[in-house]
Amino acid sequence: MSDDIIKNAGKCGLCGDEIESTYRHDYKACSCGNLFVDGGHDYQRYGYDSTRETGESALWSSKHQRWVTFSEITKETAEKQAEIDEQKERVKTRRRKLMLP
Ligand SMILES: [Zn+2]
Repeated sequence: MSDDIIKNAGKCGLCGDEIESTYRHDYKACSCGNLFVDGGHDYQRYGYDSTRETGESALWSSKHQRWVTFSEITKETAEKQAEIDEQKERVKTRRRKLMLP
């Protein structure tokens, strides 16, 4: 399940360009070529040059209604992963309990 994409936009931390993909096959790149967004309101696809990106580039978050920097996204992803790992661990624990005589 994904949140509705109200606005599919990115802001490059290197050149400062704001780019927005408004329809499915609308591929937009910033002027320095670091960042691109694609997918319009159907799906949020983006990419960046990992050798140049500093974590300052941002994506518009329809969920948070604000710009979210790559540093924040990385942090949020790590937290989500930690949550998933914790849930998996809990399931494992439950399974172990069930296996007890
Ligand atoms: Zn740029």
